[in-house]
Amino acid sequence: MVTRVPPEPFRIKMVEPVRVPDSDQRERALEAGHFNMFGLRGADVYIDLLTDSGTGAMSKQQWAAMMMGDEAYAGADSFFNLKKAVKEVLGFDHTIPTHQGRAAENVVFSALVKPGDVIPFNMPFDTTRGHVFNSGAVPAECVIDEAFDRANPHPFKGNIDIQKLDKALADNKGRVPFVMITITNNSGGGQPVSLKNLREASAVAKKHGVPLFLDAARMAENAWFIKNREEECRNMSVAEILKATMDTADAVTVSCKKDPLVNMGGLVACRTEEMYFKIVPKVILYEGFATYGGLAGRDLEALAVGLREMVDEQHLTHRIAQVRYLGELLEEGGVPCIQPIGGHAVFIDAGAFLPHIPQGLYPADVLSVEIYREGAVRGIGLGALAFEDVDEKTGERTFPKLELYRLAINRRTYTNSHMEYVAETIVNVFKRRESIRYGLELVYEPPVKGMKHFLAHLKPRDL
Ligand SMILES: *Cc1c(COP(=O)(O)O)cnc(C)c1O
Repeated sequence: MVTRVPPEPFRIKMVEPVRVPDSDQRERALEAGHFNMFGLRGADVYIDLLTDSGTGAMSKQQWAAMMMGDEAYAGADSFFNLKKAVKEVLGFDHTIPTHQGRAAENVVFSALVKPGDVIPFNMPFDTTRGHVFNSGAVPAECVIDEAFDRANPHPFKGNIDIQKLDKALADNKGRVPFVMITITNNSGGGQPVSLKNLREASAVAKKHGVPLFLDAARMAENAWFIKNREEECRNMSVAEILKATMDTADAVTVSCKKDPLVNMGGLVACRTEEMYFKIVPKVILYEGFATYGGLAGRDLEALAVGLREMVDEQHLTHRIAQVRYLGELLEEGGVPCIQPIGGHAVFIDAGAFLPHIPQGLYPADVLSVEIYREGAVRGIGLGALAFEDVDEKTGERTFPKLELYRLAINRRTYTNSHMEYVAETIVNVFKRRESIRYGLELVYEPPVKGMKHFLAHLKPRDL
């Protein structure tokens, strides 16, 4: 039985026309984009599920708030409105705006991380992983083993393994500037982290004298999952759970283009003045003065409203059900998806979808190409192309455990009929999967580690 999505808790006030490009146009677009989904133009895409980052629709309250934007370089009212919203919704005293999530990562990593350091994570997101390497540090991935088992229905597959974390902290004494937990775990399938797990991780970090950071792009979805899956939290509101989640952490970096419902924005928030003063000079260096961080006053206002809207339970219930609806339609058609269906996206197991394509020929990205070719739907491969590495000792390529293809659902943007079209398109590809007899190879690779999938030029190679 497929989930019944509750009716939309909004009505549509403005439309953005989209059209289906014909198959010639799609072929030309693939060639021009070097078979990389990041190389396609938006106008060549019908349903764009490349990312849920900055692609949602703002509310009329957010648009109205933008008119109240106070454009002062230092000390704008808009900054204080944002600071107040962060205090109210997340509980942190200190807020540093940035232009997006990776900018928040940049100021944190450049202020606190030095070469040779180790950062324990459940799993780092791709830009976060890029920043770890860019600082000369390495990530220590400590997610629970269940995260790598596609069919395992564990309710909190984003959890960090407390023993692995304890060991990483003990083995790297003096070299761990902070622990970072991603909620929900984007790279692992949009899977939530339980409040119990966050509390345990927080206690272990404290025992080792190391602060806990949350990469909190999808903190509201995570709180919704906690409410629905963690017995002790059933009677709490999502807003209360979110506060309790934040109470486990010393600081957060947030891509506000996700749950906080803005098209551009990010922030760092922390508890102590000491940490604030460590981080804030880097914002001035890279982003702008401490009270605007690369954003206009109007952006700060829209974000303050978005932070309050993101915990609306009708919004979250509708959103998460819509994502699940797409996942269930795909499963009904036989398409192997990561279980349970995540909060912001459906993750297809591309390795299982195209088992005859070796991981070194990027099956997740072949799947991206074929789904685009079939119906002008854009998702993104998150497999070897994004996460492969080279073993320093043997010089051999090492591959990630999961070869995934992600369909990220934009907030308040697409209807359920769009979801049905996407599912139909992908099921059609699934039916002809055995006739897909090629892989992709690199023609161009950028010189910066961790950036390959964004910028790669690829070309098909017959199996
Ligand atoms: C999107 C994202 C980021 C980076 O944020 P941007 O706003 O895209 O720069 C960091 N971490 C996670 C978990 C994300 O999903």
